[in-house]
Amino acid sequence: MGEFDLIRRYFQRPVRRAALGVGDDCALLAPAPGMQLAISSDMLVEGRHFFLNVNPRLLGHKALAVNLSDLAASGAKPLAFTLALSLPRADEAWISEFAAGLLALADAHDCELIGGDTTGGPLNICITVFGEVPPGQALLRSGAKAGDEIWVSGHLGDARLALEALQGHIQLPDTLLEQTRQRLESPTPRVTLGLALRGIASSALDVSDGLLGDLGHILELSNVGATVDSRLTTPLIAASAYPQSASWQFDFNLQQQCTLAGGDDYELCFTAPAARHADVLAAGIASATPVTCIGRIDAAQGLRVIGADGALLASQWKSFDHFGS
Ligand code: ADP
Ligand code: MG
Repeated sequence: MGEFDLIRRYFQRPVRRAALGVGDDCALLAPAPGMQLAISSDMLVEGRHFFLNVNPRLLGHKALAVNLSDLAASGAKPLAFTLALSLPRADEAWISEFAAGLLALADAHDCELIGGDTTGGPLNICITVFGEVPPGQALLRSGAKAGDEIWVSGHLGDARLALEALQGHIQLPDTLLEQTRQRLESPTPRVTLGLALRGIASSALDVSDGLLGDLGHILELSNVGATVDSRLTTPLIAASAYPQSASWQFDFNLQQQCTLAGGDDYELCFTAPAARHADVLAAGIASATPVTCIGRIDAAQGLRVIGADGALLASQWKSFDHFGS
C-alpha cells in the first residue's frame, strides 16, 4: 500500500468544521470570529516516550491525548489537529489500530484531523493541535499571585509507578499493574475542566514532567514561591488498593517520589484566589473531574514541600529534562 492510499484509507475523513481538510497543500481552518487560536505541538518518539511493543490503539490515543492536555491547560476548546507520522513500514494492522485509537479520542472531543505528513523512518508521531479561546481568557503559567491556592486534578503518580514496574525496577501485583498501566498508556486529557476554569484559575499548566518541577514553571513565570503539603495529594491508585494486597509491601518513599515528581500524569495543576475555592470545587463537579487543593502560593520565592511528618522536605525537585543530567 502506497503513501497516498494509506492517507486516504486511514486519515482522510469527511470534512466537518474545517473549510478545507486532508488532500490539498494546506488545510483551511476558520476560527469563530473574534476568537484566538491556541496552538501546541507534542512529539512522541519510540524508545523515548513509549515502548516498541506498545498497543497501537493506545498509542494513537496517547499521541492526541498529550496534545489535548495542552489545550486543556490553556482553557482552550479543541478544534482540529495535524498528524506528522514517520513509520518504519506500512503495516496495515498496526496503522488501522493506531488510527482507531487516535480518531476515537478526536471524535470524543470533536477535534478534526485536517492534515499532516507521512514518511518512512523510525516510528515518530508529531501532532499539532488547534483550539480556540476568547481573547484574554487563556489560562497562562504567569498569573499566580501570593495567597492563591494550588490545585491538582485527578491522581498523580500512577503512570510513573507503572513505568517503574514495566522497566523491572519494582514488582506490582497484576491488578495494580493493569490499573496503573492504563493511566500511563491511556491518559485522560482534562479538557472540560480547563474550560470550566476560565475566569476562575489565575494560572495553569498540565503536569507532564512531574508535579513539583512543573509547578516550578508557574512559580518562575509568576515570580512567586509556594508551599505544597504532600499529605494533601491524593494517594496513588496503587496506594488505595494496598490494603487488599497483603503480599505487596508499599514503599512510602516510592509513592511520594511518584506523586511529587513522577511524570506522564497529564493532570492539570492550577492556582486560583482563595476566595474562588467554592468555584473551583464547582468546576470540578461540573466537569466530573476530582480536584484537590494541595497548597498555596507565597510571596517568598522558592518551593517548600511539607512531608508526611509535617516537617519540610529537604529535597530539590526538578522537572524531567531530556537533555539534563
Ligand atoms: P505535500 O506534498 O503538499 O506535503 P503530502 O503529499 O505530504 O502533501 O500530503 C498530501 C495530503 O495528505 C496533504 O493534504 C496532507 O496534509 C495530508 N496528509 C499527509 N499525511 C497525513 C496524515 N498522517 N494524516 C492526515 N493527513 C495527512
Ligand atoms: Mg508533505
